[in-house]
Amino acid sequence: MDRSKNQLRQHMQKAGHSLTKPRLAVFAALQDQEPQTMRRLIAACPSIDRASIYRTIALFEKLGIVQRLQIGWKYKLELTDSFSRHHHHLTCLKCGRVIAFDESTELIKELRWVAAHNRFKIRSHQLEIQGLCESCRKD
Ligand SMILES: [Zn+2]
Ligand SMILES: [Zn+2]
Repeated sequence: MDRSKNQLRQHMQKAGHSLTKPRLAVFAALQDQEPQTMRRLIAACPSIDRASIYRTIALFEKLGIVQRLQIGWKYKLELTDSFSRHHHHLTCLKCGRVIAFDESTELIKELRWVAAHNRFKIRSHQLEIQGLCESCRKD
């Protein structure tokens, strides 16, 4: 079992939940992946019934393991920063494509400056950029 799965197990145990096989499978399907729709996630876990995938995602959201990316009225799911490398997204409003990017040190400096300027202590941050991707810009 790799480190992130151990981390998941500890995180869940602390909250009073056990790491069952279906939960582990849902986690594995989200690991090192682009944000996924519920539909794709269900397809990626054929051995688990739909209802328990929904329940697992709801639990993961509550425990801060999974987060939603809202894209218009739809959403995609991904692991939170605690379980994946910190990154941000460019989201296409037309086709729903999500492009991940790492932030530059300049961007971090800027965020810290804004926080300090407002006497604000940053705990975490998310940055969502919405627009049109290269292929959707063409038509
Ligand atoms: Zn960031
Ligand atoms: Zn697009």
